Amino acid sequence: MTRGAKTAAIAGIAVAACAVTAVVVTAGGRSTDASAQSSLTVNLPPAASDHIYGSPAAKGRPVVVIDAGHGGRDPGAISVSGEVREKQLTLVLAQALRDELVKRGRVRVAMTRDDDRYLTLDERAAVARRLSAAMFVSIHIDSAPNPLARGASVYSLSDVASDAEAAAAAARENGSDDQRANGSAVDMMLADLAMRSQMGASADLASRLVNKAAGRVELRPNPHRFAAFHVLRRAETPAVLFEAGYLSNADDELLLRNPDERAKMVLALAQAIEADVAAHARH
Ligand code: ZN
Repeated sequence: MTRGAKTAAIAGIAVAACAVTAVVVTAGGRSTDASAQSSLTVNLPPAASDHIYGSPAAKGRPVVVIDAGHGGRDPGAISVSGEVREKQLTLVLAQALRDELVKRGRVRVAMTRDDDRYLTLDERAAVARRLSAAMFVSIHIDSAPNPLARGASVYSLSDVASDAEAAAAAARENGSDDQRANGSAVDMMLADLAMRSQMGASADLASRLVNKAAGRVELRPNPHRFAAFHVLRRAETPAVLFEAGYLSNADDELLLRNPDERAKMVLALAQAIEADVAAHARH
């Protein structure tokens, strides 16, 4: 069973409880079985949001899923001052990126979360799968024992980490995942050609992000890294994880808390996303 089919099967079980209500609602009309089916889908609110943001002019444009890392009972990293949590800054960055992309009008946007809620990694990736998203961008902020480590980095999916630090970053981000038991089945998918192509497209997207950010955003040396992030693998679309800096570094904390600095970062991300979508549209 494919992963999608499995998810659909699970959803099918979940909607059964709502079926009675849905049939009563539609019984007065001349609903066909098909329309009754669609009303069942509406009655099952997903944990993550499938709402698509976009101007009317952007109708039919590709959907980009923006994932604000952590949330709810999972705060992520705590800043060096102790005043901010990763989950707060990832949401602020994700919302600013959504607003910028919607304003520019070249893509449509979905958000895995738009408030302070806990989501599993698979619930996040599932938004991209349900919406057949053109790409998935997960936003995080790093933390390291070395207080001098600073700068943004972009991770793209790989089954082999580019370096020990990248492997550690993936382990940290994967650590908040409640569904690690699914890993073995998903690991087998790494052999698929589709997965290889997803990795290649993810690396292209990461390169574009680094190029657009260079000179405008504080970047780490060798900012494009590779690692096996669960959330990227399961998105089943070109996917990158953007670590916007280090909350364990005092300068980065100041920078990330500054709306003007965040705006520069958001603009670079928006331009890279649009360039990537445009490159794929030409193929
Ligand atoms: Zn994180």
